[in-house]
Amino acid sequence: MCGIVAYVGQKPALPILLDGLKRLEYRGYDSAGVAVVTDGHLLIHKKAGKVRDVAAGIPMDFEAATIGIGHTRWATHGEPSDTNAHPHFDCAGEIALVHNGIIENYAAIKSKLEAGGHVFKTQTDTEALVHLVEDWYRVSHDLFTAVRLALLEVHGAYGIAVVSSREPSRVVAARKGSPLVLGIGNGEYFVASDPAAIISNTRQVVYLEDGEIVSLDPSGYVTKTIQNADVMKKVMEVTLELEQIEKGGYDHFMLKEIHEQPETIMNTLRGRLNEKEGTARLGGLRELTDRILAADRFTITACGTSWHAGLVGQYMLEQYARIPVRVEYASEFRYRNPIVGPSDVVWLISQSGETADTLAALREARARGATTAGIVNVVGSSIARETDGGTYLHAGPEIGVASTKAFTSQLTALSLITLMLGRLRGTIGPDQGRAIVHELEILPEKAEKVLEQEQTVREIAREFQSIRNFLYLGRGYNFPVALEGALKLKEISYIHAEGYPAAEMKHGPIALIDRDMPVVFITPRDGTYKKVLSNIQEVKARKGRLIAVADENDQEITRLADFVLRVPHTLDFLTPILTIIPLQLLAYYIAIDRGCNVDQPRNLAKSVTVE
Ligand code: GLU
Repeated sequence: MCGIVAYVGQKPALPILLDGLKRLEYRGYDSAGVAVVTDGHLLIHKKAGKVRDVAAGIPMDFEAATIGIGHTRWATHGEPSDTNAHPHFDCAGEIALVHNGIIENYAAIKSKLEAGGHVFKTQTDTEALVHLVEDWYRVSHDLFTAVRLALLEVHGAYGIAVVSSREPSRVVAARKGSPLVLGIGNGEYFVASDPAAIISNTRQVVYLEDGEIVSLDPSGYVTKTIQNADVMKKVMEVTLELEQIEKGGYDHFMLKEIHEQPETIMNTLRGRLNEKEGTARLGGLRELTDRILAADRFTITACGTSWHAGLVGQYMLEQYARIPVRVEYASEFRYRNPIVGPSDVVWLISQSGETADTLAALREARARGATTAGIVNVVGSSIARETDGGTYLHAGPEIGVASTKAFTSQLTALSLITLMLGRLRGTIGPDQGRAIVHELEILPEKAEKVLEQEQTVREIAREFQSIRNFLYLGRGYNFPVALEGALKLKEISYIHAEGYPAAEMKHGPIALIDRDMPVVFITPRDGTYKKVLSNIQEVKARKGRLIAVADENDQEITRLADFVLRVPHTLDFLTPILTIIPLQLLAYYIAIDRGCNVDQPRNLAKSVTVE
């Protein structure tokens, strides 16, 4: 999920690797490292912290090497530490590998290899792969073949680069699900997860596709599929400037992150669905499961967007796992002498894992003897370390201040937790469980379809950019989406917006409705659909202008709403994962039309580490 850079040629590799790693720094990462081959030896240096700190401690003997690999890590398995940093190496210290992504079946590979005598040193999923390559190397004596055969055994996502002291002028690289690009120089080659790392050296590149593997040495390169079929690649020229590349070709990180959601939802699900049993596997909760099942009730505590995710979680858990859940702002929970004790489970939701109020709520809950579990994006963050267990989002670094992809991953994680607990408690039967697994599996594609509405969103944004107030209404699972949609608009466009449960409108906010108060209705075809239609009529009767987020097959809504944004049909409790996406885009485009700085909105910080 973070950065890879590799070099083979005639020049000293180290400055090229370090420069490339520094150019990948904008993504945010937790540790970094390099490996080079020199004089027939493999040398590795890696550390938690900044590239600058890693660079400062590199011994002199690295300097002569003309081949090497480097990595900035954004941990998914195992906390950020010197040991867990990449490159990882085999038992003999002859093969080094860097990896972006997640090896889903690492546990099975690891047990098999440990039984065969391999000794593991780290908590990462990646290390399984380097030992597997070592195993195949013993058979094939050829790095390219060994990596290729190892990859045939792997499930998951990877971009990798590998070197071996036995083949001192070869880099092998491959990808599936994580980007990888080759840079073509004169008698020298580069590999990177992102062209930003190499464009200061060359703009001639070859993009690897999923399932392709390449062997590079100073005399040339060969590309194949991992099934060993030949592939011819086209050399292209990178014309984008550095800043554009960093934002993935988008104008802002926020837009890039909105578009990443099909992939980040998939990453949250990766390796966690069990189709046969119709359930979810969540390793980080394994040791707590008995305590969770014995709990009288749950408390979910969080701030901002994460609190909205918590509200959806409450609806999910109460409906499907039949556990009483309360949701509290972390800042309130900690100061009001809350009634929690050993029979409670307190869930803490935070993207950064460093949110000060949520961290303080966690400490309060622990002090009172509650079991605590985190739903966190940043591996090894304070909340992740101090909770008894939890579930990581695996959404990758989120740079835009207004949270987007972390929110949909939080909802995805909560739906996995709901599924697992519902199955364990018997409130979800095996067939229903399998139907949920199936629906989760196709959710990333559905998210992709929602993004196709971007042009319509732009038109709506243009229409409403000079409005001063907005109302967002939804019911059931989509009431929290109304809150989150309104928050997005407030955060980045500075327009006043409020979210309400749709039926509450008649108890007050209806007084505000006129032509200058557009109303966004989030109304997929779920259990509350018919009721929301009546609320829509009430708005129409008062000449309110209406934007609806509706089911793709809903014809009725076309008659009522001035603008309709469509989402594919899914299970009721999963609808928020789709319905929020057009609202993120709407907030983005309104903010752009108003000339706001969406990536750094005024007065806001990405990780709120103050009370
Ligand atoms: N899953 C790997 C790890 O946690 C790779 C993480 C990354 O993509 O940076 O070490």
